[in-house]
Amino acid sequence: MNERVSVIGGGLAGVEAAWALANRGIDVDLFEMKGVRFSPAHRSENLAELVCSNSLKAKRLETAAGLLKSEMRLFGSLCMQAADACEVPAGGALAVDRDAFSAYITEKINAHARITVHRREVTEIPDCPVIVAAGPLASEALSAEIRRICGAGLSFYDAAAPIVTKESLDFDCCFTQSRYERGGEDDYINCPMNKAEYEAFYDAIMTAERAELHTFDERKDVYEGCMPIEAMAARGKDTMRYGPLKPVGLRDPRTGHRPWAVLQLRKENRQGTLLNLVGFQTNLKFSEQKRVFSMIPALKNAEFMRYGVMHRNTFLDSPRLLNADYSFRKRETLFFAGQITGVEGYMESASSGILAGVNMARRLNGKAALRLPVTTMMGALCGYISDESVKHFQPMGANFGILPPLPEKIRDKKLRYAALAARGLEDMKQALMKEGECFGNGI
Ligand SMILES: Cc1cc2nc3c(=O)[nH]c(=O)nc-3n(C[C@H](O)[C@H](O)[C@H](O)COP(=O)(O)OP(=O)(O)OC[C@H]3O[C@@H](n4cnc5c(N)ncnc54)[C@H](O)[C@@H]3O)c2cc1C
Repeated sequence: MNERVSVIGGGLAGVEAAWALANRGIDVDLFEMKGVRFSPAHRSENLAELVCSNSLKAKRLETAAGLLKSEMRLFGSLCMQAADACEVPAGGALAVDRDAFSAYITEKINAHARITVHRREVTEIPDCPVIVAAGPLASEALSAEIRRICGAGLSFYDAAAPIVTKESLDFDCCFTQSRYERGGEDDYINCPMNKAEYEAFYDAIMTAERAELHTFDERKDVYEGCMPIEAMAARGKDTMRYGPLKPVGLRDPRTGHRPWAVLQLRKENRQGTLLNLVGFQTNLKFSEQKRVFSMIPALKNAEFMRYGVMHRNTFLDSPRLLNADYSFRKRETLFFAGQITGVEGYMESASSGILAGVNMARRLNGKAALRLPVTTMMGALCGYISDESVKHFQPMGANFGILPPLPEKIRDKKLRYAALAARGLEDMKQALMKEGECFGNGI
């Protein structure tokens, strides 16, 4: 069968999806509105525009970002080809000349015999095979259409709290307990502070540096219901103690008393390896989040797997809407890809475009969906966004916390990450070779 596929959005995910489809013999109509209409962040008419940093993050395989990139290379990623061709020196990071990067990709896409690029805003999702990859700033009309199709499961703002790994907590300084003992015994990990610790924490948060907001992120009304922790602190010394740091209904088993203030941590994934700082959505600079939040005794050595952010971000409630191959549960030939699915970051978005494209092609060619091992970064990311047990879904970037632990315990972090990366890449190679989808060696 050779049905045409429409790909909506020519960003990082859209170009990868189109590339994967076209290279599997499927004709693609790629719709990109730039040239006719620009989002508040996009400037250039080229495809696959990097809207902010020109860094694609770490290069080394033994990092989460490095593993992800190596896996993408196995699929013959167009973004990785472009990155190699347009690299600029940046130490351990893979940084690119952003204009050359987008120009390279635009040229490749325009030259592909099976891809036709249409410069227009799509406002309706057609009733044919389609991949929606319209990004975190999808146009208003298309967002309304997505909302119509998905029901309520579409968010427009990302007000996320930081996430830390469970293994990095100091368990001498915290305890498991549900408030008023309602709920499961280990639903929450409580990180208490005494009066002096709380006051030092309050002083630090009041003077911590905040990240700059883009003008289109300055929607203060949106944040009233999910106020940044620093804004809450600014309302008064004890406001946090009546909000996310309230100690009522909790008793520290070490002292037998109610603590002065308590930060609660809640499981972020099914395995419970990642924990969310409940109510700590924040717009502090990342370095300040690490410095200030690590003042909470249980978090003194905490490993942050994602920092809190507050910005405009259109994303689906994917755990209730998407399968692990990025297809829409209620319609076989509708896929989503990119940041709109709740993966976060340039390469994460591009990688989901690859997987959506490959799986749409497999579906149209009558093959079973390609399910990636959960030990791979791409497999863990699509597993995370489609995991129904995740209740308060927030976007997630590549990190080692979403991979299942190794069978053996490796204390040294560097060695542990190296082992996780080696396992992930090997498992990906095996899976792709078995399915006839391997187009590189990952280097
Ligand atoms: C301001 C800002 C800064 C960011 N900075 C970084 C960063 O430094 N590092 C990082 O890793 N990530 C960053 N991100 C996240 C980044 O957007 C994603 O990582 C990545 O670009 C998402 O890829 P995507 O393909 O999903 O969306 P995009 O790359 O945004 O592509 C979506 C495309 O769809 C098009 N489109 C939208 N609506 C329609 C429509 N109705 N019809 C046709 N075309 C449409 C858009 O014009 C756009 O070209 C940033 C995001 C924003 C908003």
